[in-house]
Amino acid sequence: MLREMVRRVADEQVRPLVPGMEETRRFPEELVEVFGDLGLLQMWVPEEYGGPGGDLTSVCIAKEEIGKASLAASTLCANNSIGLILPLLHFGTAAQKDRYLNEAAKGRTISAVAITEPEAGSDVSAIRTRARRDGDSYVIDGQKSWITWAAQANYMLVFARTSEGRGHEGISVFLVDTKTPGLKIGRKEMKMGRHGSPSYQVFFENMRVEADCLLGEEGSGFKACMRILDLNRPSVAASSLGLAQAALDESLRYAQERRQFGKRIGDFQAIQFKLADMAMKIEAARTLLYSSAQEIDGGDTSRLTLLSSMAKCYVTDVAMEVALEAVQVHGSYGYSTEYPVERFMRDAKLNQILEGTNEIHRLIIARQLLGK
Ligand SMILES: Cc1cc2nc3c(=O)[nH]c(=O)nc-3n(C[C@H](O)[C@H](O)[C@H](O)COP(=O)(O)OP(=O)(O)OC[C@H]3O[C@@H](n4cnc5c(N)ncnc54)[C@H](O)[C@@H]3O)c2cc1C
Repeated sequence: MLREMVRRVADEQVRPLVPGMEETRRFPEELVEVFGDLGLLQMWVPEEYGGPGGDLTSVCIAKEEIGKASLAASTLCANNSIGLILPLLHFGTAAQKDRYLNEAAKGRTISAVAITEPEAGSDVSAIRTRARRDGDSYVIDGQKSWITWAAQANYMLVFARTSEGRGHEGISVFLVDTKTPGLKIGRKEMKMGRHGSPSYQVFFENMRVEADCLLGEEGSGFKACMRILDLNRPSVAASSLGLAQAALDESLRYAQERRQFGKRIGDFQAIQFKLADMAMKIEAARTLLYSSAQEIDGGDTSRLTLLSSMAKCYVTDVAMEVALEAVQVHGSYGYSTEYPVERFMRDAKLNQILEGTNEIHRLIIARQLLGK
């Protein structure tokens, strides 16, 4: 039922917005209301706080369906997962949960996650943003880059150093209201794709936040948040799975329409092999994604990190391979902006880079296998 409902939303409300998002790169703010009214923004909020009480599998289903129409819009779907809902559920106090989850349940709250800095991408331990305790508050100074939804978000999950420590020690996590004085949105990052989900530079200048904006223990935020990212990461793969399926569907359609040498190009074995390979990879990716999501939802988290990295890395690689082949099947029309496959190719690239690059996920997988 969820899949059917979201598919209808994707077809009727998301797909028509895509040409405008591509042309003007605007953020489709009308989707906040559409997604919020259907519970798609706030999927993870438990029923006791007035939310839909979704789990990873249902988030993946929703993001896969929206991802068929637009990777950018699928980023808005369940947008609050890592910026707000999951961190609160897993290490928020009762007061923090009450305050934010009841609000998020109404489906109008957007959040952003601010980890990356100009000199700290894969190496999060290199972050320089500092949070200094001052009486009942913290004062935060620093700079972030590539922060998606920063200008639209109501809340921002900010990673900052509260003490010097080795590696990730000393990093804390703050849930900050974006209206806080001292939080400044910088330039919009210029991107190759995923137009419609804007990312920005963010500056914290003497930004004072109440001490109860700290999530979890001081200095242990990084470890806690990595677990949250693990819990949500397969849903990034789900968006890519939707994109890959859409690329295959477009290719199947085109292969049966386009004629060369007096035949449909789908009659040529070279094209058939491409279509077969694309379909096999998608099927394998879907199986890995949903079996991982179900194992994680089942409560057995012994393989959480392993499965989360495997799903993210494998499915997003498959989406890139499939999107590239879709362009090739379309020939010069694959290179034309009049067909969607060039957008799929540009968008697919991004998910191999964010939420941990796929090189970093291969490292994580290998470390898990080797017991390190
Ligand atoms: C459109 C977009 C949206 C984003 N949204 C957000 C957001 O909302 N919030 C946020 O905090 N961040 C966001 N990011 C940032 C993103 O998470 C980082 O770009 C990503 O973590 C990689 O960091 P980096 O770009 O600095 O690459 P680097 O870390 O500099 O990596 C460069 C290359 O070196 C490789 N590499 C690095 N270290 C190793 C290693 N140890 N072993 C092997 N290879 C390695 C990488 O895999 C990569 O190929 C976004 C990025 C983009 C492009």
